[in-house]
Parts: sequence; structure tokens; C-alpha cells
Amino acid sequence: MLAEETSLSHFKTSLRGRLIAPADPDYEMSRKVYNGMIDKRPALIARCLDEADVIAAVNFARVKNLLVAVRGGGHSGAGMGMCDGGLVIDLSYMKATHVDPAARTVQVQGGCTLGDVDHATHAFGMAVPTGIQSTTGIAGLTLGGGIGHLTRQCGLTIDNLLEADVVLASGEYVKASAREHSDLFWALRGGGGNFGVVTSFLFQTHPISTVYAGPMLWDLEDAKEMMRWYHEFISNAPDDINGFFAFLIVPPDPSFPVDLHLKSMCGVVWCYTGPMEEAEKAFEPIRGFKKPALDFVGPMPVPVLQSMFDPLVPSGYQWYWKGDYVKDLPDEAIDICIHHGSKVPNMYSGVHLYPINGAAARVDNNATAWSYRDATYAMVIVGVDPEPTNKHIITNWSRDFWKAIHPYSAGGSYINFMMEEGQDRVKATYGDNYQRLVEVKTKYDPHNLFRVNQNILPAVTDQA
Ligand SMILES: Cc1cc2nc3c(=O)[nH]c(=O)nc-3n(C[C@H](O)[C@H](O)[C@H](O)COP(=O)(O)OP(=O)(O)OC[C@H]3O[C@@H](n4cnc5c(N)ncnc54)[C@H](O)[C@@H]3O)c2cc1C
Repeated sequence: MLAEETSLSHFKTSLRGRLIAPADPDYEMSRKVYNGMIDKRPALIARCLDEADVIAAVNFARVKNLLVAVRGGGHSGAGMGMCDGGLVIDLSYMKATHVDPAARTVQVQGGCTLGDVDHATHAFGMAVPTGIQSTTGIAGLTLGGGIGHLTRQCGLTIDNLLEADVVLASGEYVKASAREHSDLFWALRGGGGNFGVVTSFLFQTHPISTVYAGPMLWDLEDAKEMMRWYHEFISNAPDDINGFFAFLIVPPDPSFPVDLHLKSMCGVVWCYTGPMEEAEKAFEPIRGFKKPALDFVGPMPVPVLQSMFDPLVPSGYQWYWKGDYVKDLPDEAIDICIHHGSKVPNMYSGVHLYPINGAAARVDNNATAWSYRDATYAMVIVGVDPEPTNKHIITNWSRDFWKAIHPYSAGGSYINFMMEEGQDRVKATYGDNYQRLVEVKTKYDPHNLFRVNQNILPAVTDQA
């Protein structure tokens, strides 16, 4: 590359999208991410509009030796879609989707949210298994694994990934799939944003359009009985029933009975994907065990379920979470969950246990980089508050809860439920797959250009 080609002005004019600097009027808006606690100030934000913009941004950052953050949907709890100083490669305007109904696939660009994916596929009566909130970015969610309402039926999001288009640290543009760059494809499925900028994902879709779904809530006095029952039930349930367990406070919303407003409760958010005419029967053992205090489960289109919780936690609130993989739930662990779960600080916060069984558990631990297929749950303790002055309350609650429950964990945590927790946590999370991730990282990003993430250290950096 010629010297003048790496100048800031050349970089700026080479982009179809905007290059935003601190003096620009939209800088403040452009550096905001979902978590209101994150206050990072990049030197530049490249708002990319196509692959060429991404290649130009990667080349500029590499040649200028800039710190790089890659922003998809901006939902990282740790704020890893943003950086202090350096260059943000912002994909949030790259939102094209293309459904191939005959092949039952959907191609989505790296800036799509889960809502964008659902919008595209639902029109064709299809769905991709993703998460539980439509505002989350598909890129970060997929690269970390992807757990949600359809996990037990269709596997993790990565189990449905067929191809990814990637701009590598070298600026080279490659396709990763089972046939091409299969080592990279393995690492992308759970290894996070370590290996390059994914401009586009190709997913297989499933013929799921209407689900029988929604929350059921029980009184906290019933929590021990319900958690024991849930653990047994979900570990053996047919694949077409998914449900994540939660401790929560009921919002004072007119859609809830007034006597439940602001009450601490436990519950399960269900999602059944089998034939609708058999749904009531499938739920007989659930409703028959203990009558819920609230039962909002019924037929609904997938996008309605996917966006059900969006209004409760809009962008900009303070956010602090900690997670762990959990294999078993002995009574002592249940008691700890109830003790801290009954102290959920407000109606925005909560504890969720997402099942990792059904289809997701039938993939080998080393078939993808995501290495906890034998966990029963990905647990997350989420503290959220609109008020910045309350951030210590949610942070302390999450940490105290996590400290108490951690001895019962399987070791690591789902990377998408982590803050910046250090190398030991990253290694614990990848377990036996960590060394193979180091090899792939060393091959594709030897100088660790992509390090604003749950970082896999390349071998050279490890020795430095
Ligand atoms: C409200 C909320 C609900 C959530 N629900 C779920 C859920 O149901 N299931 C679940 O599995 N997770 C869930 N998550 C966690 C979510 O998967 C992670 O926060 C994920 O990182 C978000 O991806 P993003 O693209 O929005 O984030 P960003 O902040 O944009 O990026 C996160 C990380 O991914 C990397 N990255 C982003 N885009 C790219 C790209 N195109 N190429 C390479 N690297 C990239 C970034 O470098 C960064 O390290 C939720 C998060 C929130 C805040």
C-alpha cells in the first residue's frame, strides 16, 4: 500500500459510509452502546456500509496500529463493541437480509439485530434459533454461541450457521464454512470476535412460525418445589418444549393483575414448537404440577415472543451481569438461588437459567469452539437500572449472588454473559478447546488486531 493511501483523508474518502470523529455532531450518539455504564471515547468510528468499507477500515487500523473494536448490535454487556481511542468498525448500518425459501436459508449482514432476522424469515414461515430479545445483534450473539427460545428444538445459533464471510486482520476477504477455511469456521462458532470481522452470515432456517409460548409465574414460597420440578422436567422434556427459569419482579404494567405488581416471583418463559393442536396437551403436566399465579402462555407468532421483553429494558440503562455454566442443581444451590433471587433489586433485573439440552446437547463439545454442551444451563445474573446512581446496587447484587453460587458451577461462563473478567475466565470457558483456538488465532490474527473481545491470545503474544 502506498504511503498516501493510508492517510486519514484517503481513508475517509475511500469509505461509502461516514468516518465520525469526536468533533462531529453525531459522535456522541454514535459512541453510545446498549449498556449505559459504558462511556468509551474512540478516536474514530467508521460507519461501514459494505464489505469494501470494512476492508478499508481493517487495513487502516492495521497499518496505523490502532486499537480496534467491532460493533454489531452494540449489546455486549462489557461494551466490547466500543473502545477508548482507536477505531470502531461499526457494522450497525449493514442490515441487508436475503431469504432463499427453496434452500431454506437466510443470509444476513453483520449489523442485523435478531429482530431484523425474524422480520426476514417470518414472512416465509421460517425462523432461525437466536436469543430472547429482538434488539440484540446477530453478530455478537452468533459468534458467542446463541442461546434462546428455540435452543432445545434447533440447537444453538451456531449449530445453524452454514457460512460466514470474514474480513481477516490481513484485509483478506474469505468465506468460512465446513468446506472452506474449516478451521476458521470451527473457531467462529463460539470463539467470539477474535478472528476477523464477519460481514455476513448464512443460516439454515426452520419451518417455525407460530409457537405456544409466554411466561408462567409462581409465588416465591413455591420456588424450591418449582425449581426442583423444573430441573427434572426440562432435563427430560421433548425437544419441542423450551423454557428458561427466572427470578424476577413483576412490572406494574396494566397487562399484569394489580395484586402481582412489583411482587418478587419465580417463573418459566416457555416456548413450544410442536403442532399447535397438541399444545394444550403438551402443557398438561406443566399446568398440572402446580397452578401458576399467572399464566400468559398461548399461541403467538415467533417475532411477538422474540420482542416481548424489549420494552422492559430499553437501550441506555445501567447493566451489570455475571454468568456461569451449571451442570446440576443440588438443594444447596437451589437454596442459594432462592436466597439471592428473592433480593432481585428491581423489576428490570433478574436471574435466568437457560437450558443447554435437547438438540444443543447432541453436538460434541469439540465439534465447535463452544465447549459446554454437557452443561445443563447457562446461568446469568443480570442487574439493570435506569439510574446511573444505582449502579453499585445492581453490581453488588450480581457479584454477591455469583460469589455464592459459583462453587456449584461447571467452571466457565457463556462468553456472551461476561463482563471483562480476565484470561483465567476465558480459558475456563473454553476448556479443552482453548489450545485449538490459540492455534486458529495465531494463524488468522497473529498480532491480535482483534482483541477488544473475550480475548484468545495468539501464541506469539502469549510468549511475549
Ligand atoms: C438485552 C440483552 C439480551 C440478550 N439476550 C441474549 C440471548 O437471549 N441469548 C444469547 O445468547 N445472548 C443474549 N445476549 C447477549 C448477547 O449475545 C451478547 O451481548 C452479544 O455480544 C451481543 O452481540 P452484539 O453484536 O449486539 O454486540 P456488540 O457489542 O456489537 O459486539 C459484541 C462482541 O462481538 C464482536 N462482534 C460484533 N459484531 C461482530 C462482527 N460482525 N464480526 C466480528 N466480531 C463482532 C465484538 O467485537 C464484541 O466483542 C443478550 C444481551 C442483551 C444486552
